[in-house]
Amino acid sequence: MANLSVINTPVPGGIAVVDFYTNYANPKAFYSNAPVYIQQLDNTHWQALVGIPLLVKVGEKQLIVKDLAKQTIPFNVQDHAYQEQHITLTGKKKKYVNPNLAHMDRIKQERPILSKARKTFTNQTFNNTKFIRPVPGITTSPFGFKRFYNGQARRPHTGLDYAGEIGSPIKAAASGRVVISDEYFFNGNTVFIDHGQGLISVYIHMTERFITPGEYVGQGDVIGTIGQTGRATGPHLHFGIYLNQTVINPNLLINHEI
Ligand SMILES: [Zn+2]
Repeated sequence: MANLSVINTPVPGGIAVVDFYTNYANPKAFYSNAPVYIQQLDNTHWQALVGIPLLVKVGEKQLIVKDLAKQTIPFNVQDHAYQEQHITLTGKKKKYVNPNLAHMDRIKQERPILSKARKTFTNQTFNNTKFIRPVPGITTSPFGFKRFYNGQARRPHTGLDYAGEIGSPIKAAASGRVVISDEYFFNGNTVFIDHGQGLISVYIHMTERFITPGEYVGQGDVIGTIGQTGRATGPHLHFGIYLNQTVINPNLLINHEI
């Protein structure tokens, strides 16, 4: 098992690196009641990698460590300014701004499936020290953009958009096990890969998917191709990372930038 190389970025959409010490061989850590990714640096020195929600209130937070007793480790979350983005959807793509009733049924059916996938927490071991870019294209929409569709405020951007031609290969950003490979209303063709301890990578708007749930993939394996399925205004890959059920900036794991 390899340790993940991360810098401390305790801001909304960032990763707080919180050190703790214990003699206990199998500690667990929690933030906001969700289990957190931990790694051992030496005998007693551990590190928790805490995904911080984009819409969190800044200030003091707590990591709960459960060893033989219970430790409460405070850490501080600071503000980070993200830009605004205005998107206009026209024609057929308008249905993604205010979906009709039939679409709402489908969205409601899909919501718990995606939510369950985001909550995946397994002992899958992480075999890489960093993530790689899944595609080579330029970033057309950065992480954390505050988004408006046809003037209506929607969730901030939960990943990175990479430009690319339809049909270009998409690589697994790190090794792991496939949790989801299916088609959804907003996300279109979607793949989730579990890298262990609540660290999950997400690939959406794909054209083709080459893998099935349960399958193991290595870092760099081609898992599908770029597309514009679901709520996408043009061909691109939306790439996201979940950590303790929270979207974080994928660049923190690729090039250590926010
Ligand atoms: Zn996107």
